[in-house]
Amino acid sequence: MIRPDETGAAGASRYTDRLDNRTTEANRNDMTDALDQTGSEQSVRVRFPPSPTGLLHVGGARTALFNWLVAYGQAPREGKDGALILRIEDTDRSRFVEGATEGILDILNWFGIHWDEGPDVGGPHAPYIQSERTELYQQAAADLIEQGAAYRCFCTPERLQALREEQQAKKEPPGYDRRCRSLSQDEIDVNLAAGASFVIRFAMPREGETIVHDLIRGEMVFQNVTLEDLVLLKTDGYPTYHLANVVDDHDMQVTLIMRGEEWIPTAPVHVQLYRAFGWEVPQLAHMPLILAPGGGKLSKRHGSTAMEEFRSQGYLPEAMMNYLALLGWSLDGETEIISKAELLQHFTLERVSPSPATFDYAKLRWFNQYYINHVLELDDLTERVVPFLVADGLVGITASDTECEEFARVREVTAILKDRIVLLSEAPDLMRYFLQDELDPFDPASLVPKKSDRATTKATLQAGLAALQQLSVANEAEAEAKLRELAEAQGIKAGQLFMPIRVAVTGRTESPGLFETLRVIGDDRVRSRIASAIVMLDAGDPD
Ligand code: GLU
Repeated sequence: MIRPDETGAAGASRYTDRLDNRTTEANRNDMTDALDQTGSEQSVRVRFPPSPTGLLHVGGARTALFNWLVAYGQAPREGKDGALILRIEDTDRSRFVEGATEGILDILNWFGIHWDEGPDVGGPHAPYIQSERTELYQQAAADLIEQGAAYRCFCTPERLQALREEQQAKKEPPGYDRRCRSLSQDEIDVNLAAGASFVIRFAMPREGETIVHDLIRGEMVFQNVTLEDLVLLKTDGYPTYHLANVVDDHDMQVTLIMRGEEWIPTAPVHVQLYRAFGWEVPQLAHMPLILAPGGGKLSKRHGSTAMEEFRSQGYLPEAMMNYLALLGWSLDGETEIISKAELLQHFTLERVSPSPATFDYAKLRWFNQYYINHVLELDDLTERVVPFLVADGLVGITASDTECEEFARVREVTAILKDRIVLLSEAPDLMRYFLQDELDPFDPASLVPKKSDRATTKATLQAGLAALQQLSVANEAEAEAKLRELAEAQGIKAGQLFMPIRVAVTGRTESPGLFETLRVIGDDRVRSRIASAIVMLDAGDPD
């Protein structure tokens, strides 16, 4: 990736200024203009700033993906330098989870996106972890106090609690009553001299309105009287999300902020903060919500929500990417299977919809099965199946041992089962009878076809075994022809012979086609399993 030039933010500001007083349609045109500018100021700098509070939610992954697609797809296609910045927003120390940052970087790598600047790769605006940048925020807060755009608030938690209760009792909207906004310098000095702890609050304009221009939603107007004097710097010296996010997006020369719709309420506050600092507001685009099936917020109650969970269940990153891209964006309203390369070729912010998207687990499973069955090359698929088999103890190889015999065997099994694998984690169970010497115990009654009995089944299996001893299952066509002949000679339907053989060699009533199954299991195991089934029928009670 070419490094963005220093003029990126200034370049973006021109478009921001021109966005005033437009309708949604007009904003969309501006967006095209913004991304279509020619000349030397051609940076589109986007960012993904997760908070390390746990696993990466699918909604976060979708936001990361859209940012990545703008930086590496849309921007370069339009002749601009795109850059994606990964920043860790860890200033809420009460929600910080040890190891979460590493987990997020790891799962994003698995997902298949990368970035130009971030905690692991560095960059011109390092550090990219907010807890390592606290001085910057403290300075910024001090600057705002200096200009009268922020103030120290000495209100105690007890007073704030009492205030909340009073507001509740009076059915008034909750919020800070701005008491400390009008403290005199003397009062402030007395508090400071007494060592009283304080937060720094933003002095939000109390009149007028704040207009937020959103590239997806058009103009959103907020009455300033409804906006609170939010805390910027906490008593522990850490900034809140609002201050750190604005300071960093400016410092890192972000030109376009793409984030989830749930952040819309913070947008007017941020716009006001940019103004107070005298900085240009980056362009804003809020991605549509991802709803649960049947509506409401997607949560654990509906199924997995974390990318790590999908990975461990054996979803493919390709399928996840394809599916998540379609949550809020579409190529033409129809096409479903879209590769990563095609996404990079076609993704545009203009086609991101403001309407919420619904997360459909069944559809995601469908994508996964499609990628397993139709998209991945067999070797590639086999390599991805192997770790699940290893974890189950079915094989003892590593996915990179692609030259060994065991890998070849797994590849053969994968080839005939790939149209049945929906999740890679299902592979061990589906493959067990191909890979183990011994079958898992099964009910001998399942050997007996409907309308038949044990004695007949035993005789049928004995005849089948005798036939199979005269040929090799390696030749599927021959094995099939011989067994069909045998059924005919015995005056039974082919199914009455095939069924018990299938159950005898697999232990199950369902498997891939019988003759490919026999071929992959191989002569020795086929013969010995049929012989064991005959013994099982003997051992049971006669019907
Ligand atoms: N740290 C915020 C989060 O966890 C980032 C929101 C934003 O993109 O501004 O989602």
